[in-house]
Amino acid sequence: MPTESGMPGFLSGYRDADRVKKVIEQIHQITNQTWTLMEICGGQTHAIMQFGLDQLFPEKIELVHGPGCPVCVTALELIDQALWIAQQANVIFTSFGDMLRVPGSTGNLFSVRASGGQVRVVYSPMDAVKIAQENPEKEVVFFAIGFETTAPANAMAVLQAEKMGLQNFSILPANVCVPPAMHAILSSPANRIQGFLAAGHVCAVMGYWEYPPIAKQYQTPMVVTGFEPLDLVRGVYKTIGMLEEGRVDVENAYPRAVTFEGNQVAQSLIMQVFEPVDRNWRGIGTIPKSGYGLQENYQGFDATHRFDAGNIQTAESELCIAGQVLQGIKKPVECPAFGSLCTPQSPLGAPMVSAEGACAAYYQYKRET
Ligand code: SF4
Repeated sequence: MPTESGMPGFLSGYRDADRVKKVIEQIHQITNQTWTLMEICGGQTHAIMQFGLDQLFPEKIELVHGPGCPVCVTALELIDQALWIAQQANVIFTSFGDMLRVPGSTGNLFSVRASGGQVRVVYSPMDAVKIAQENPEKEVVFFAIGFETTAPANAMAVLQAEKMGLQNFSILPANVCVPPAMHAILSSPANRIQGFLAAGHVCAVMGYWEYPPIAKQYQTPMVVTGFEPLDLVRGVYKTIGMLEEGRVDVENAYPRAVTFEGNQVAQSLIMQVFEPVDRNWRGIGTIPKSGYGLQENYQGFDATHRFDAGNIQTAESELCIAGQVLQGIKKPVECPAFGSLCTPQSPLGAPMVSAEGACAAYYQYKRET
């Protein structure tokens, strides 16, 4: 297999058109068969669309888009629990901003705020801890969404609240994990994924030691991939290289941020506070051990119990095919509501809301296939 061009010295070098073109030429040279690859992460989906990379690859390569958008996969019942908790009189509900527009069964967090609920946007769970400290008469809840990337900060917030003796802070646990989702996608009878671009930021925290057994079990090569154009084309190049050679392995195309072991301090923080639990992914269903729930010692920080919000029943829009989109079975443009009943201004499903959602990417960058 030919060698790729060398490592650029500055971040801007990862957008250098000549370097990107050179790797794309190499991809054309080594591609003989048709291949379907999935990029897990919604951030990668947006970068691929933004820079038009999907239109530069050989026609024999199809990229489909995975469930790696935390806003998109947060289960409807969790959104409804968030809405219910945020409506309680004594609550300040805190969240990252992109969750406020995500539709639940009866509205979204913006509509709760418009009707008088105290919903605040924060940039970190530690901001929520500070709000709890400053408002001892209020219950302060943080919506703890995200993949493994946000879990260490969520764990840190719980530990800090415990250290400060805060009785009025809790989280709504909603973290999800990538490896169980890979298992779910690859074991599905409808699966057509032959190679994975693994999400570089998740691997920066978790490493990629969990991936070789999955690659081996499903005979699917994986490449840890970053988010700039040169990172992405290198990820595709390495994946196609393995597929064409009939080789199954896990390779790292993002070594400036990712090691095999990952950030072990962050991993031990997660394990100190959370434990794996079954989690419902919006549009996909329950994936065993695919989420982080609070360990028994920290159950007092679980807003689900504190507000008795665990039994809320939900109803998803019948038009939305987000589950199939998030598993790479269908493209957003195959949804009958795409661009008509469902737009970023009036979204029916979460993938049209989030900046990382595949439907929003297709809409923003005007993809028709
Ligand atoms: S276009 Fe809208 S309705 Fe269709 S799958 Fe995407 S989010 Fe759901």
